[in-house]
Amino acid sequence: MAKYDYDLFVIGAGSGGVRAARLAAVSGARVAVAEEHRVGGTCVIRGCVPKKFMVYASEFAHEAQIAEGYGWSASGASFDWKRFLDAKDREIARLSGIYVTNLSNAGAEIVHAKARLQDAHTIELVGKGTVTAEKILIATGGRPWKPTEFPGAEHIITSEEAFHLPELPKRIMIAGGGYIAVEFAGIFNGLGVDTTLVYRGANILRGFDDDVRSHVAEEMKKRGIKVVLGSQHRAIEKTPGGLVSRMTAGADIETDLVMFATGRRPYVEGLGLENAGVRLNDAGAVAVDAFSRTNVENIWAVGDVTDRINLTPVAIREGAAFAQAEFYDNPISFDHDMVASAVFSQPPVGAVGLSEADARHLHGKVDIYLSRFRPMKTTFYGGDERCLIKLVVDQASQKILGCHVVGADAPEIIQMAAVALKMGVTKQQWDSTCAVHPTLAEELVTMRDKYVPQGAAA
Ligand code: NDP
Repeated sequence: MAKYDYDLFVIGAGSGGVRAARLAAVSGARVAVAEEHRVGGTCVIRGCVPKKFMVYASEFAHEAQIAEGYGWSASGASFDWKRFLDAKDREIARLSGIYVTNLSNAGAEIVHAKARLQDAHTIELVGKGTVTAEKILIATGGRPWKPTEFPGAEHIITSEEAFHLPELPKRIMIAGGGYIAVEFAGIFNGLGVDTTLVYRGANILRGFDDDVRSHVAEEMKKRGIKVVLGSQHRAIEKTPGGLVSRMTAGADIETDLVMFATGRRPYVEGLGLENAGVRLNDAGAVAVDAFSRTNVENIWAVGDVTDRINLTPVAIREGAAFAQAEFYDNPISFDHDMVASAVFSQPPVGAVGLSEADARHLHGKVDIYLSRFRPMKTTFYGGDERCLIKLVVDQASQKILGCHVVGADAPEIIQMAAVALKMGVTKQQWDSTCAVHPTLAEELVTMRDKYVPQGAAA
């Protein structure tokens, strides 16, 4: 008789957990997955997927403006939030159902319960008894974090609620300068909500290339978003007119809704990790090595709960690598280098590799190629929006260290750039690729002159 009920028990049916569970189950292993909410995890249920639908919904307003320049008359168009929510929720339910089907077809069992470790091999399924497993994978993701310490903090919503607002506010304030803040600012602004973004630092999107950061902030302002920098909340007061945000710098700001997008934290609460002796790192994430192994020999962790690169495709690759190593005798680990990412701001960003500042820090001398230009599509409408394309090249080896694009389809473009950068492309090889005309992306392979910032010595 088998020593344990399962060969693998996965906690969390999100992107990483589901991929690992499916692969392991297909190998013939006895696999179960516990999920306390809906199957699909952050990405499908309350993240990437519904967010992208909201981005699509909100982009039509700007498209209509552009269309006017081409002779269309888009006046009288209106937006029905409830109809959109219904369509979105139907699709999310369908996708969650596909995840369930895929798990079942692979032979994995789904347990709808909160799972808590009792020891390194025993899992309590709250309200449903206990099971044992030889191997355990923690894939519980993350949860939004918001401050609670200042007066009025109870009025704050996070992205979780933003996906289900009963109605659109007239005015919203979004606090934070990362992916979620910037993306939701574009969404609400596009949907006609008077939108203010407040960020505590000198510029939004910390970690991205500085030119990208300032470019996105400027373009957001051109679209009508109020961007307030160097300020944060002291208090929020409910008044007859709405919610008044008292700020550390600048004037009070009155809105109807205050959303905080101030980061996400690994979801480890109530997991019983201490019962099994699983160690957390200083950031409160499950500490793992390159093979996603924790300090307990039969327990692994993948995805946002490990706080490495918190992106869905990364969690999927980490989950797949774990399953390959443990169930296919193929000890691979996921390489976290040159992972491209996109910010679905409006305009969106695609980036892979190093920012100019990081490249200078790590590699010393670099060549910069940078181009700003008007996107062809907007020619007739009279707006003054601009795209940005930037390459960061190692001067000694001529390898391209970073590629940064801001403009329509940047997320699509960066996927292909990532292939080349991952292969270690040099600027000469890159430039030997013939342009596709007329496109935004062609500019990437036609930048011949090194960029010298105004005022800098050549
Ligand atoms: P981020 O970590 O990207 O950004 C958090 C922002 O909140 C930062 O601007 C940070 O400022 C600010 N902040 C943190 N604490 C405070 C505070 N106490 N008061 C005021 N501001 C504060 O988190 P997000 O919530 O935007 O996203 C979480 C993760 O989800 C991302 O890191 C990303 O990995 C993933 N994600 C990816 C997306 C994509 O791929 N398109 C989309 C959405 C999310 P500071 O910079 O000064 O620290």
